[in-house]
Amino acid sequence: MGEFDVIARYFTRPVRHAALGVGDDCALLAPTPGMQLAVSSDMLVEGRHFFADVDPEALGHKALAVNLSDLAACGARPMAFTLALALPRVDETWLAGFSRGLLALADEHDCELVGGDTTQGPLNICITVFGEVPAGQALLRSGARPGDDIYVSGTLGDARLALQALLGHIALPAQVLARARQRLERPTPRVALGLALRGVAHSAMDVSDGLLGDLSHILKASGAGARIDTHAASFLIAEKAYASGVTGYFDIELVRQCTLAGGDDYELVFTAPPERRDAVAAAAQASQTRVSRIGTVEAEPGLRLLDALGQPLENRYASFDHFG
Ligand code: ADP
Ligand code: MG
Repeated sequence: MGEFDVIARYFTRPVRHAALGVGDDCALLAPTPGMQLAVSSDMLVEGRHFFADVDPEALGHKALAVNLSDLAACGARPMAFTLALALPRVDETWLAGFSRGLLALADEHDCELVGGDTTQGPLNICITVFGEVPAGQALLRSGARPGDDIYVSGTLGDARLALQALLGHIALPAQVLARARQRLERPTPRVALGLALRGVAHSAMDVSDGLLGDLSHILKASGAGARIDTHAASFLIAEKAYASGVTGYFDIELVRQCTLAGGDDYELVFTAPPERRDAVAAAAQASQTRVSRIGTVEAEPGLRLLDALGQPLENRYASFDHFG
């Protein structure tokens, strides 16, 4: 099976919205008048972002999910994406699983595959997504203001928990690992929440490298600092029974590492003024997404962490950095 057969069999679908999809030198997109295009790319590299033996269907899902998460963070509605793929060899079982996971999530978000590139090489997946947002309404990192509440969606830390177990650093009961692993391998992009937060949140971004590090990007872009209730954030780990030490599997330090600096959560961290608490609750309700308040933006730069007793906690929770 050659390159063009691979494209035709696994990555060519009729387009519904784009003016032109796979098959020519360019795809053609027709954004709605009055909208801005939101564009983002994310690359997944074997051995760096995923294990070589990961389920290809989950990998297809994740490759698109991390990109949709960026659109969600901007409050953009997904339209289309391109897929640049380097494959060591044509493995049809792998391709069938990968494209199934990828296209199922694409269908869920009505985001169509309009083009890409396919080449032989070490397994590498690069997706570029295109979304649209009413001009001037994108959620940005730079909009946080002193006094804003800080929120995070969903749960935090379970992906890191699974990673620690898969790397052999901790032992988890099989069922706990299976659930945490779902969060690592099949993250849920918070697209509906991002859309519902337009006009409500002052700032937003998605948590890919770790809550505190990613929040620091918002604070830096906004010229502000924050106070964080680390106790509230720690309790956002879904595998709470284990995390809280009930079974003696781990200590609070591991829970903090996972929730505050874990990465791979693909939740949204965002800020909104206190007078919009009802609007935030309505956005959470409308998108059927849990949101939790974990802190306050302050004028003074820097992060001030508080523990369960409101005492200052040293920030030892650095985020992931590929070159750090
Ligand atoms: P070109 O050489 O002109 O860049 P290619 O021969 O690489 O085009 O690709 C042929 C067509 O298939 C193009 O429309 C391209 O966008 C599409 N394509 C290539 N690889 C993929 C892929 N992995 N997924 C979706 N479309 C792809
Ligand atoms: Mg060409």
